Amino acid sequence: MQKSEQKRYFSSHLLEWYEQNKRDLPWRRHRNPYYIWVSEIMLQQTRVDTVIPYFNRFIERFPTVESLADAPEEDVLKSWEGLGYYSRARNLQHAAKQVKELHGGQIPNDREAVFALKGVGPYTAGAILSIAFNRSEPAVDGNVMRVLSRYFLIEEDIMKGSTRAHMEDLVRELIPEGRASDFNQALMELGALVCTPKSPHCLTCPVMEHCEGRLEGKEESLPMKTKAKKPRPEYRLAALIEGEGVNKGRVLIRQRPSSGLLARMWELPHVLASASSPDQGAALPEGPAMDRLAGALSEEEGLYVRPIMHFMDAEHTFSHIHWNMRVFKSKLQDAAAAFVAEQRTSYDSNREEDEREYRWIRQEDMEGYAFPNVFIKILNSYFDSH
Ligand code: SF4
Repeated sequence: MQKSEQKRYFSSHLLEWYEQNKRDLPWRRHRNPYYIWVSEIMLQQTRVDTVIPYFNRFIERFPTVESLADAPEEDVLKSWEGLGYYSRARNLQHAAKQVKELHGGQIPNDREAVFALKGVGPYTAGAILSIAFNRSEPAVDGNVMRVLSRYFLIEEDIMKGSTRAHMEDLVRELIPEGRASDFNQALMELGALVCTPKSPHCLTCPVMEHCEGRLEGKEESLPMKTKAKKPRPEYRLAALIEGEGVNKGRVLIRQRPSSGLLARMWELPHVLASASSPDQGAALPEGPAMDRLAGALSEEEGLYVRPIMHFMDAEHTFSHIHWNMRVFKSKLQDAAAAFVAEQRTSYDSNREEDEREYRWIRQEDMEGYAFPNVFIKILNSYFDSH
């Protein structure tokens, strides 16, 4: 079969299949560019089933670009809580402000302007322009590269920029006149439902007949991909500090610095198990671990704690780090320290840039703070057991 014929076959059969099999997803019900944009940002590294309730709540809370641009950052992070990769939420809000200021609140139908929005890379720009505005732009992500690698038997490393560029050119050729919106969504849908990473469902695939990867028996081994580096382990010790006196029933949380990993989110105070080698500390016995926790918290932030007993272990994986966290129930060390900690729980405008902010909270207060998942789990385990 000629290449051009193989391409035509792919596009027409894929579109036909999509018409009959597309899922009813909330962002597909309108061609609202804002909805498409929010959904595409949420879908990065997150499954559709997980995204749907987040998407619905987010759109209800921030129905327009302006409402997102004008919202307190804390509210945006709270709405994102549990989805992870919080820089996506921050970038989204930053970009909403750009859209409001530079484009009067209308998402631009223009490649350069969309591409200039914070957090919008080539894939998201292509998705917005094609899905919302029906522009013939490719939207090539890992899913799409998998499908194309298999169907056209492309044995190039998909981690390479040159492979992506090749695939983008290919998609431009494949998009039928005036069908960019449906075609790109069809390609994504095939990758999500049929041409799945493991055990692709070739027998129900609408383009099986001319899929070169399958004809060569290579559907399972494609796409070619150099292995991503494993996240590096980091061992951490956390203090679950129980309040006393007026703070009885509460736990002390702190806010993270305003830049870097999980910026401005809330958490339990925690430290590296070993300052010199973050990947060490797994086998630290309980006594030395508690000494290290107390010593590092007093040195690093003037927080004097008395760890009492091991409470639980928890884990959290970021793209580049894997936290292994041992949590110790603790008390503040003495009345003076308690006083200091109480003072520091009220917002002080003269606070030094890098000085931590703290709060005593009960379980019902958790709603008002954005936490990384690992701390929601720890705090709920604690409050549920008391
Ligand atoms: S036939 Fe199999 S490998 Fe080829 S595109 Fe369809 S699901 Fe993927």
